[in-house]
Amino acid sequence: MSRYDLVVRGGTLVLPHVGTVRADLATKDGKVATLSSDIPASEGESVLDATGKLVFPGAVDAHFHLGIYRPLEVDAAEETRSSLVGGATTVLSYFRTGQHYLNKTGPYREILPEVLQAVDGHAWTDYGFHLAPMDTAQVREIPDLVDGHGVSSFKYYMFYKGFNLAADSRDAKAFTMSDEYDLGHLYQLMEAVSAANAAGDRRVSLSLHCEQAELMRLFIDRVRAAGDPQTLKAYSDARPPLTERVAIGEATTLARATGCPVNLLHLSSGEALAAAQEARAAMPGTDMRFEVTLHHLCLTHEELDAQGGLGGKVNPPIRSAADNEALWAGVLDGSVNWVASDHACCLEENKGDALWPALPGFGGTALLYPILISEGMHKRGLSPTRVAELASANPARAYGLDGRKGNLLVGYDADLTVVDPSLEQTVSASLLLSGQDHCPFEGHKVRGWPVATVLRGHLAYQAGTVLGPPRGSFIAR
Ligand SMILES: [Zn+2]
Repeated sequence: MSRYDLVVRGGTLVLPHVGTVRADLATKDGKVATLSSDIPASEGESVLDATGKLVFPGAVDAHFHLGIYRPLEVDAAEETRSSLVGGATTVLSYFRTGQHYLNKTGPYREILPEVLQAVDGHAWTDYGFHLAPMDTAQVREIPDLVDGHGVSSFKYYMFYKGFNLAADSRDAKAFTMSDEYDLGHLYQLMEAVSAANAAGDRRVSLSLHCEQAELMRLFIDRVRAAGDPQTLKAYSDARPPLTERVAIGEATTLARATGCPVNLLHLSSGEALAAAQEARAAMPGTDMRFEVTLHHLCLTHEELDAQGGLGGKVNPPIRSAADNEALWAGVLDGSVNWVASDHACCLEENKGDALWPALPGFGGTALLYPILISEGMHKRGLSPTRVAELASANPARAYGLDGRKGNLLVGYDADLTVVDPSLEQTVSASLLLSGQDHCPFEGHKVRGWPVATVLRGHLAYQAGTVLGPPRGSFIAR
C-alpha cells in the first residue's frame, strides 16, 4: 500500500497569504498530507505531473445560481462540471423562494432539504447555499438555519421591491411571493444576521445586490420612451451606476446601524466601486467585503452590441471599458476582496431578441482562474498569490470555509488545480463543458488554463474531460 493517495510532483505551489514555493504535495484521505521539496513518485497510489505548472488551491466560486432556470439536478450536473474547467472545486450558490428556482414559497426548514435532495449525487464540486429570507417568517428561521442547517450567509436584493428579475414587470409581490420586501424588511433581516454573527465564532453575513428600484423605474421609463433600443447599452442606461451608488448608501447605512457584516456583490461600475470604497472609509467598524465578477471586469456593452444578441443581459448590466479598468484598479489595489462568476445557466431560447423579457444572467465559472491569470496576472501584473486569494482564500474566509477550503496547507481539503500559465485558448461555448448553448465571452483569447483539477484528492478533470463519478458534497458552514 502506498503512503499517499496522490502525489502532485514538479509544480510551483501557490499559497495564499504565504507566496509561491517550488514543492511537491501529497494527499491522504482527501486532505493535504504533506508538502515537501521532493516526494518520490513511488509514495503515491497515483501521480500527477505538474512540472512547469502552477498549482493553485481549488477556487471557491462564491456567487452561483444552481437551478434558477433549469431543474436543480440538471444545473448541478452540468454547471459544476463547467466549474472544474476553470479550477473551481467549491461553489456557493444563491437560492431563494419566489419566482424561478422551485417557483414557490414556504419555510426554508422544509424547502432547503428539498434543494439538497435534488442536488445530491449530481455535483462535480463541493457546494453550499446562501439563502434569501423573503418574508418575516423566513427571517425568524435564521438562527436555526445557522445552527442546524449549515447556512451562514444570506441575501437581500435591493431592486426586488420594485421589479421582477427581468425588469419587465413591476408586480414585485407576485415575484417575491412575499409580504413587505422593502428597507424595513432589510433592517429586520440585518438585525437577525447581526445577532447570529454575534452569537458564535463564525462569520454570519448578508450579501447585497445593490441597484435602487425607484431610480430604475425612472431611467427604464426614459429609455423606453426614447425609442426603446433593444441593446445592452440601453439596458445599462436604464439601470445606471447611480442606482448602484444609492443602493450601496442605503445598504451600508443600515449595516452600520445594525452591526451586520455585509458582502456587496458584483460591483459593476467605477461609480459603484467608489461608493463602496467611500462607505468603507466612512464606517471603519463595519465589516464590508466587495465582490466583482469576471464579466464586469472583461466585457463591454459596446463589444457585445457590435456582435448582436442579448446573451449578455445581466443584473447589474454590462458597462463600459472605463468601468472594466476601474474595477481592475480595485482588484489591484486590494479593495476588492474576491472575484466570482455569478454563474447562472441561461439558454439562448430564454434570451430571444426582445430586451425586456430576456432573462438575465449567463455562465462563466469555467473562466474563473483563466481570466484572473490571463487578464490579471499576465496583462496587469497581479501576482499568482493574489490570484489565489481572490479566487479561493478570501471567499473561503468570508463564508466560513477557512481551515477546509481556500489553501493548500496540511490539513486542508485536497482541492487543487494545476494551471498551465502559457496555454492559450479561444473561448467557445463547447470548451467550457456547461449546458449553456452560447457564451458572451466567445472569441476572447485567454492565456492560462487548468489542465487538471482535483477534488478532495480525486482527479476530477484533466485535459478537457471530467473524470467521474461526480463526488461533490454539501458543505455545512
Ligand atoms: Zn447573482
